[in-house]
Amino acid sequence: SSSIKPPPMPSPLRFSKFFQSSMRILVTGGAGFIGSHLVDKLMENEKNEPLLVEVDQIYHLACPASPIFYKYNPVKTIKTNVIGTLNMLGLAKRVGARILLTSTSEVYGDPLIHPQTESYWGNANPIGVRSCYDEGKRVAETLMFDYHRQYGIEIRIARIFNTYGPRMNIDDGRVVSNFICKHNEPLTVQAPGTQTRSFCYVSDMVDGLIRLMEGENTGSINIGNPGEFTMLELAETVKELINPDVEITMVENTPDDPRQRKPDITKAKELLGWEPKIKLRNGLPLMEDDFRLRLGVPRRK
Ligand code: UDP
Ligand code: UDP
Repeated sequence: SSSIKPPPMPSPLRFSKFFQSSMRILVTGGAGFIGSHLVDKLMENEKNEPLLVEVDQIYHLACPASPIFYKYNPVKTIKTNVIGTLNMLGLAKRVGARILLTSTSEVYGDPLIHPQTESYWGNANPIGVRSCYDEGKRVAETLMFDYHRQYGIEIRIARIFNTYGPRMNIDDGRVVSNFICKHNEPLTVQAPGTQTRSFCYVSDMVDGLIRLMEGENTGSINIGNPGEFTMLELAETVKELINPDVEITMVENTPDDPRQRKPDITKAKELLGWEPKIKLRNGLPLMEDDFRLRLGVPRRK
């Protein structure tokens, strides 16, 4: 539109990654876990020429996502979610780009319906230690929709459920990486161990995000694997597949830990033609190979 101004020179957005072809795409959080896989996939179809600022698509991933990290500096977490998303929306508005936010299953809080559908408004504690993340993402979704309604920005919102796979930080602190990086130390299941999560392999996640960006549906849309496990079942599975001799111990939990989490992915199936392909039992060994390589631990015979 005529209100689009030329980019300022030099660009203030040097922290981000730009790739040029017929399509210019900005990925915030492109050096992170899911972001780095997304950039790999996007690069398969793109020449790698740095570009300063004008873009057609923005994948806005930037935000710490592991509870130990987002709770470590909650003020920074909420600033990233609120100010970071506001700035990316300002950029999208100025250049007329389509913007995709990676939101989270945490917007459902400690959910009272199961599995979680997108129409559920959630059960989140606004003043708890997880609020910087879950309320932060809820505000980020609100900002996305307000920019959409008020300025006609093209938005896409993915509600990401627990994701795992190669390249996750060894010290990420989330449950799958914690269990895989322990060789002979016990697997620490946080009490009561009956709480559930549903784990999506990273290549499935990235395919879902790209389909959402390219498709015609604004969202919010759950992207996750509906295969649900209790933390005790996860520990048993890791023990069976990775180290039959490892011990499993119960340790104390942290406040506000959601008791159950499983995506209803009817919308993703119908609207995006997407569903995950990789089962936990097949994905865990792929992650294990990557962790062994990085930790220099040889494969078990
Ligand atoms: N913004 C940005 N890059 C841009 C355009 C805008 O970071 O290319 C920031 C801008 O500084 C502002 C935010 O995005 O803080 C929201 O922009 P908007 O135009 O909606 O708000 P305004 O600048 O009118 O307050
Ligand atoms: N958890 C666990 N042992 C660990 C780390 C986490 O049993 O070493 C549990 C935690 O209590 C929660 C679930 O695993 O119920 C998932 O926690 P995580 O930090 O991986 O991510 P979340 O889904 O809570 O963001």
